[in-house]
Amino acid sequence: MNPLDRRDFLGLTLAAGAAAALPAWARPHRADNNTFFEVVPVGDKGNAFAILGEGGNSLLINDGDSSLLVDCKNGPFGQVLLDDIRKLGAGDDLTVLNTHHHGDHTAGNIAFRESSNIIAHANTLPRIDANMEWYQRMGEQAVRQLDELPADKRAMAETAVMSYAERLSSLEADMFRPTSPVIEPREFIACGSIEIELYRMGNGHTDNDLIVYCRELNLVHTGDLVFNRVHPFMDADGGCDPRNWRNVLRNVRQFGDDDTTVIPGHGSVGTKSVIDGQIKYIEDIFEAVADSISKGMTREQVTETTYGFQQGVSVDWIRPIANGFIYDLLQE
Ligand SMILES: [Zn+2]
Repeated sequence: MNPLDRRDFLGLTLAAGAAAALPAWARPHRADNNTFFEVVPVGDKGNAFAILGEGGNSLLINDGDSSLLVDCKNGPFGQVLLDDIRKLGAGDDLTVLNTHHHGDHTAGNIAFRESSNIIAHANTLPRIDANMEWYQRMGEQAVRQLDELPADKRAMAETAVMSYAERLSSLEADMFRPTSPVIEPREFIACGSIEIELYRMGNGHTDNDLIVYCRELNLVHTGDLVFNRVHPFMDADGGCDPRNWRNVLRNVRQFGDDDTTVIPGHGSVGTKSVIDGQIKYIEDIFEAVADSISKGMTREQVTETTYGFQQGVSVDWIRPIANGFIYDLLQE
Protein backbone atom coordinates (compact mmCIF):
# COMPACT_ATOMS: atom_id res chain seq x y z
CA MET A 1 0.00 0.00 0.00
CA ASN A 2 1.55 3.29 -0.93
CA PRO A 3 1.53 6.22 1.52
CA LEU A 4 -1.34 7.94 -0.27
CA ASP A 5 -3.53 4.84 -0.11
CA ARG A 6 -2.74 4.47 3.56
CA ARG A 7 -3.68 8.06 4.26
CA ASP A 8 -6.95 7.73 2.38
CA PHE A 9 -7.70 4.43 4.05
CA LEU A 10 -7.23 5.87 7.52
CA GLY A 11 -9.03 9.07 6.65
CA LEU A 12 -12.12 7.22 5.47
CA THR A 13 -12.38 4.64 8.19
CA LEU A 14 -11.57 6.43 11.42
CA ALA A 15 -14.02 8.61 13.29
CA ALA A 16 -12.36 11.57 14.99
CA GLY A 17 -12.93 10.18 18.47
CA ALA A 18 -11.41 6.83 17.66
CA ALA A 19 -8.45 8.52 16.06
CA ALA A 20 -7.47 10.29 19.27
CA ALA A 21 -6.92 6.95 20.99
CA LEU A 22 -4.46 5.78 18.38
CA PRO A 23 -0.71 6.30 18.54
CA ALA A 24 0.47 9.41 16.74
CA TRP A 25 1.70 7.56 13.66
CA ALA A 26 -1.65 5.83 13.07
CA ARG A 27 -3.81 8.93 13.26
CA PRO A 28 -4.98 10.38 9.98
CA HIS A 29 -2.51 13.01 8.92
CA ARG A 30 -2.90 15.37 6.06
CA ALA A 31 -0.18 15.58 3.49
CA ASP A 32 1.76 18.49 4.89
CA ASN A 33 1.88 20.99 2.08
CA ASN A 34 4.88 22.63 3.64
CA THR A 35 7.15 19.61 3.42
CA PHE A 36 8.34 17.74 0.36
CA PHE A 37 8.26 14.36 2.07
CA GLU A 38 5.41 12.56 3.77
CA VAL A 39 5.86 13.26 7.47
CA VAL A 40 4.43 10.95 10.14
CA PRO A 41 4.53 12.19 13.76
CA VAL A 42 5.88 9.49 16.09
CA GLY A 43 6.51 9.27 19.81
CA ASP A 44 3.50 11.28 21.08
CA LYS A 45 5.56 14.26 22.35
CA GLY A 46 5.42 16.29 19.16
CA ASN A 47 9.19 16.23 18.76
CA ALA A 48 9.76 13.17 16.59
CA PHE A 49 8.87 12.49 12.98
CA ALA A 50 9.24 9.64 10.52
CA ILE A 51 9.98 11.07 7.07
CA LEU A 52 9.00 8.86 4.15
CA GLY A 53 9.92 8.80 0.45
CA GLU A 54 12.87 9.03 -1.99
CA GLY A 55 14.97 6.36 -0.31
CA GLY A 56 14.94 4.76 3.11
CA ASN A 57 12.69 6.08 5.86
CA SER A 58 14.28 8.82 7.97
CA LEU A 59 13.62 9.69 11.60
CA LEU A 60 14.01 13.13 13.16
CA ILE A 61 14.12 13.69 16.93
CA ASN A 62 14.31 17.23 18.31
CA ASP A 63 15.18 18.39 21.83
CA GLY A 64 15.67 22.12 22.14
CA ASP A 65 18.47 23.17 19.84
CA SER A 66 19.66 19.57 19.43
CA SER A 67 18.39 17.17 16.80
CA LEU A 68 19.15 13.67 15.58
CA LEU A 69 18.44 12.66 11.99
CA VAL A 70 18.50 8.95 11.16
CA ASP A 71 19.27 8.23 7.48
CA CYS A 72 19.58 10.71 4.64
CA LYS A 73 17.76 9.26 1.61
CA ASN A 74 18.86 9.41 -2.02
CA GLY A 75 21.60 11.94 -2.72
CA PRO A 76 19.70 14.43 -4.87
CA PHE A 77 17.12 14.74 -2.09
CA GLY A 78 19.59 15.30 0.77
CA GLN A 79 19.21 19.07 0.55
CA VAL A 80 15.42 18.70 0.27
CA LEU A 81 15.49 16.60 3.45
CA LEU A 82 17.54 19.28 5.19
CA ASP A 83 14.99 21.91 4.14
CA ASP A 84 12.15 19.71 5.45
CA ILE A 85 13.70 19.00 8.85
CA ARG A 86 14.23 22.72 9.41
CA LYS A 87 10.48 23.14 8.87
CA LEU A 88 9.96 20.38 11.45
CA GLY A 89 11.98 22.26 14.06
CA ALA A 90 15.44 20.71 13.68
CA GLY A 91 18.01 22.64 15.70
CA ASP A 92 21.44 23.91 14.65
CA ASP A 93 23.12 21.19 16.70
CA LEU A 94 22.24 18.42 14.27
CA THR A 95 23.71 14.92 14.50
CA VAL A 96 23.18 12.51 11.63
CA LEU A 97 23.22 8.72 11.83
CA ASN A 98 23.28 6.12 9.05
CA THR A 99 21.68 2.76 9.83
CA HIS A 100 23.91 1.10 7.17
CA HIS A 101 25.91 1.90 4.05
CA HIS A 102 23.33 1.49 1.27
CA GLY A 103 23.03 4.46 -1.05
CA ASP A 104 19.37 5.12 -0.36
CA HIS A 105 20.32 5.79 3.30
CA THR A 106 23.73 7.47 2.92
CA ALA A 107 23.80 9.43 -0.33
CA GLY A 108 21.96 12.35 1.22
CA ASN A 109 24.90 12.67 3.66
CA ILE A 110 26.34 15.02 1.05
CA ALA A 111 23.99 17.76 2.24
CA PHE A 112 24.89 17.32 5.92
CA ARG A 113 28.57 16.47 6.00
CA GLU A 114 29.97 19.97 6.30
CA SER A 115 27.82 20.97 9.25
CA SER A 116 27.09 17.72 11.11
CA ASN A 117 28.74 14.75 12.69
CA ILE A 118 27.66 11.63 10.85
CA ILE A 119 27.57 8.48 12.98
CA ALA A 120 27.63 4.99 11.46
CA HIS A 121 29.09 1.60 12.23
CA ALA A 122 32.78 1.40 11.36
CA ASN A 123 32.11 -1.31 8.76
CA THR A 124 30.20 1.30 6.76
CA LEU A 125 33.28 3.34 5.94
CA PRO A 126 35.05 1.15 3.36
CA ARG A 127 31.74 0.34 1.72
CA ILE A 128 31.04 3.97 0.88
CA ASP A 129 33.74 3.83 -1.82
CA ALA A 130 31.89 1.00 -3.54
CA ASN A 131 28.72 3.11 -3.61
CA MET A 132 30.02 5.81 -5.96
CA GLU A 133 28.36 4.40 -9.06
CA TRP A 134 25.08 4.12 -7.12
CA TYR A 135 25.39 7.72 -5.93
CA GLN A 136 25.90 8.86 -9.52
CA ARG A 137 23.05 6.79 -10.93
CA MET A 138 20.71 8.44 -8.41
CA GLY A 139 21.45 11.83 -9.86
CA GLU A 140 20.39 10.77 -13.35
CA GLN A 141 17.26 9.04 -12.04
CA ALA A 142 16.22 12.05 -9.97
CA VAL A 143 16.37 14.39 -12.94
CA ARG A 144 14.00 12.07 -14.85
CA GLN A 145 11.78 11.86 -11.74
CA LEU A 146 11.30 15.62 -11.62
CA ASP A 147 8.84 15.45 -14.50
CA GLU A 148 6.62 13.08 -12.52
CA LEU A 149 6.33 15.37 -9.51
CA PRO A 150 3.35 17.65 -8.93
CA ALA A 151 4.26 21.30 -9.50
CA ASP A 152 4.49 22.24 -5.80
CA LYS A 153 6.77 19.27 -5.00
CA ARG A 154 8.88 19.93 -8.07
CA ALA A 155 9.38 23.51 -6.95
CA MET A 156 10.73 22.25 -3.62
CA ALA A 157 13.12 19.70 -5.14
CA GLU A 158 14.25 21.07 -8.48
CA THR A 159 17.16 23.24 -7.36
CA ALA A 160 18.58 20.51 -5.12
CA VAL A 161 18.19 17.76 -7.73
CA MET A 162 19.73 19.80 -10.55
CA SER A 163 22.63 20.94 -8.40
CA TYR A 164 23.39 17.31 -7.42
CA ALA A 165 23.13 16.26 -11.07
CA GLU A 166 25.63 18.93 -12.10
CA ARG A 167 28.16 17.54 -9.62
CA LEU A 168 28.00 13.90 -10.77
CA SER A 169 31.43 13.83 -12.40
CA SER A 170 33.10 15.41 -9.37
CA LEU A 171 31.49 13.32 -6.61
CA GLU A 172 34.00 11.79 -4.20
CA ALA A 173 33.54 9.24 -1.43
CA ASP A 174 34.65 11.76 1.18
CA MET A 175 31.54 13.82 0.49
CA PHE A 176 29.42 10.93 1.80
CA ARG A 177 31.60 9.16 4.34
CA PRO A 178 30.41 9.10 7.98
CA THR A 179 32.64 11.09 10.31
CA SER A 180 32.04 9.27 13.61
CA PRO A 181 32.36 5.49 13.34
CA VAL A 182 31.11 3.34 16.21
CA ILE A 183 32.37 -0.15 16.93
CA GLU A 184 30.78 -1.33 20.19
CA PRO A 185 27.74 -3.63 20.05
CA ARG A 186 25.91 -1.10 22.25
CA GLU A 187 26.53 2.63 22.35
CA PHE A 188 24.69 5.60 23.81
CA ILE A 189 24.37 8.97 22.15
CA ALA A 190 22.48 12.05 23.28
CA CYS A 191 20.03 14.28 21.48
CA GLY A 192 19.82 17.14 23.98
CA SER A 193 18.55 15.46 27.12
CA ILE A 194 17.16 12.46 25.23
CA GLU A 195 19.23 9.29 25.39
CA ILE A 196 19.46 7.15 22.26
CA GLU A 197 20.74 3.57 22.27
CA LEU A 198 22.54 2.13 19.25
CA TYR A 199 22.90 -1.60 18.76
CA ARG A 200 24.78 -3.79 16.35
CA MET A 201 23.88 -7.46 16.68
CA GLY A 202 26.02 -8.97 13.95
CA ASN A 203 25.34 -9.31 10.26
CA GLY A 204 21.74 -9.14 9.12
CA HIS A 205 20.69 -6.97 6.20
CA THR A 206 24.38 -5.96 5.91
CA ASP A 207 27.56 -6.21 7.99
CA ASN A 208 27.05 -2.72 9.40
CA ASP A 209 23.42 -2.52 10.55
CA LEU A 210 22.74 -0.19 13.46
CA ILE A 211 19.45 -0.34 15.33
CA VAL A 212 18.33 2.94 16.89
CA TYR A 213 16.25 2.66 20.07
CA CYS A 214 14.83 5.63 21.97
CA ARG A 215 13.42 4.36 25.24
CA GLU A 216 12.02 7.77 26.28
CA LEU A 217 9.96 8.13 23.10
CA ASN A 218 9.32 4.38 22.91
CA LEU A 219 10.39 4.04 19.32
CA VAL A 220 12.85 2.03 17.31
CA HIS A 221 14.27 2.67 13.84
CA THR A 222 15.32 -0.72 12.48
CA GLY A 223 16.97 0.47 9.28
CA ASP A 224 16.62 -2.14 6.56
CA LEU A 225 16.41 -4.98 9.05
CA VAL A 226 12.69 -4.43 8.45
CA PHE A 227 11.01 -4.00 5.09
CA ASN A 228 7.32 -3.58 5.88
CA ARG A 229 5.29 -5.26 3.11
CA VAL A 230 8.24 -4.72 0.79
CA HIS A 231 10.51 -7.59 -0.35
CA PRO A 232 13.72 -7.53 1.73
CA PHE A 233 16.83 -6.61 -0.23
CA MET A 234 19.50 -9.29 0.29
CA ASP A 235 22.90 -7.92 -0.62
CA ALA A 236 25.44 -10.70 -1.16
CA ASP A 237 28.29 -8.18 -1.40
CA GLY A 238 27.18 -6.21 1.65
CA GLY A 239 27.51 -8.96 4.25
CA CYS A 240 23.85 -10.04 4.29
CA ASP A 241 23.21 -13.00 6.61
CA PRO A 242 19.51 -13.92 6.51
CA ARG A 243 19.76 -16.52 9.29
CA ASN A 244 21.28 -14.06 11.74
CA TRP A 245 18.99 -11.34 10.37
CA ARG A 246 16.09 -13.37 11.77
CA ASN A 247 17.93 -13.77 15.10
CA VAL A 248 18.65 -10.03 15.29
CA LEU A 249 14.97 -9.28 14.78
CA ARG A 250 14.00 -11.69 17.54
CA ASN A 251 16.23 -9.62 19.83
CA VAL A 252 14.88 -6.29 18.60
CA ARG A 253 11.42 -7.73 19.25
CA GLN A 254 12.29 -7.59 22.99
CA PHE A 255 12.67 -3.79 23.00
CA GLY A 256 9.90 -1.67 24.49
CA ASP A 257 6.34 -2.91 24.87
CA ASP A 258 3.15 -3.43 22.87
CA ASP A 259 2.97 0.30 22.11
CA THR A 260 6.49 0.65 20.76
CA THR A 261 6.56 2.45 17.42
CA VAL A 262 8.66 0.76 14.76
CA ILE A 263 10.08 2.77 11.89
CA PRO A 264 11.16 0.26 9.23
CA GLY A 265 13.78 1.00 6.58
CA HIS A 266 11.06 0.84 3.92
CA GLY A 267 7.27 0.71 4.07
CA SER A 268 4.82 2.17 6.55
CA VAL A 269 5.49 2.95 10.19
CA GLY A 270 3.90 0.45 12.58
CA THR A 271 4.20 -1.49 15.82
CA LYS A 272 6.26 -4.57 16.58
CA SER A 273 3.93 -6.53 14.32
CA VAL A 274 6.01 -5.24 11.39
CA ILE A 275 9.06 -6.92 12.96
CA ASP A 276 7.04 -10.12 13.27
CA GLY A 277 6.13 -9.77 9.60
CA GLN A 278 9.79 -9.57 8.60
CA ILE A 279 10.73 -12.56 10.78
CA LYS A 280 7.91 -14.56 9.19
CA TYR A 281 9.01 -13.58 5.67
CA ILE A 282 12.54 -14.83 6.36
CA GLU A 283 11.27 -18.08 7.89
CA ASP A 284 8.88 -18.58 4.97
CA ILE A 285 11.49 -17.95 2.29
CA PHE A 286 13.87 -20.52 3.77
CA GLU A 287 11.10 -23.08 3.94
CA ALA A 288 9.75 -22.36 0.45
CA VAL A 289 13.12 -22.39 -1.31
CA ALA A 290 14.22 -25.55 0.55
CA ASP A 291 11.01 -27.22 -0.60
CA SER A 292 11.67 -26.10 -4.21
CA ILE A 293 15.20 -27.51 -4.06
CA SER A 294 13.90 -30.81 -2.70
CA LYS A 295 11.61 -30.98 -5.72
CA GLY A 296 14.57 -30.50 -8.06
CA MET A 297 13.86 -26.93 -9.15
CA THR A 298 16.76 -25.00 -10.69
CA ARG A 299 18.06 -21.66 -9.41
CA GLU A 300 16.41 -19.95 -12.37
CA GLN A 301 13.06 -21.56 -11.62
CA VAL A 302 13.34 -20.50 -7.97
CA THR A 303 14.12 -16.89 -8.85
CA GLU A 304 11.15 -16.83 -11.21
CA THR A 305 8.75 -18.12 -8.56
CA THR A 306 6.42 -15.90 -6.56
CA TYR A 307 5.64 -17.94 -3.46
CA GLY A 308 2.31 -17.57 -1.68
CA PHE A 309 3.67 -15.39 1.11
CA GLN A 310 5.26 -13.09 -1.49
CA GLN A 311 1.95 -12.27 -3.20
CA GLY A 312 1.06 -8.59 -2.93
CA VAL A 313 4.42 -7.60 -1.41
CA SER A 314 5.84 -4.44 -2.97
CA VAL A 315 8.97 -3.76 -5.07
CA ASP A 316 8.98 -6.97 -7.07
CA TRP A 317 12.47 -6.60 -8.58
CA ILE A 318 13.88 -7.50 -5.17
CA ARG A 319 12.02 -10.85 -5.01
CA PRO A 320 14.21 -12.83 -7.48
CA ILE A 321 17.33 -11.51 -5.75
CA ALA A 322 16.03 -12.72 -2.38
CA ASN A 323 14.95 -16.10 -3.73
CA GLY A 324 18.29 -16.60 -5.49
CA PHE A 325 20.25 -15.57 -2.41
CA ILE A 326 18.45 -18.14 -0.24
CA TYR A 327 18.88 -20.79 -2.97
CA ASP A 328 22.64 -20.19 -2.97
CA LEU A 329 22.79 -20.32 0.83
CA LEU A 330 20.96 -23.63 0.94
CA GLN A 331 23.26 -25.12 -1.70
CA GLU A 332 26.39 -24.33 0.34
ZN1 LIG B 1 19.63 -1.33 2.71
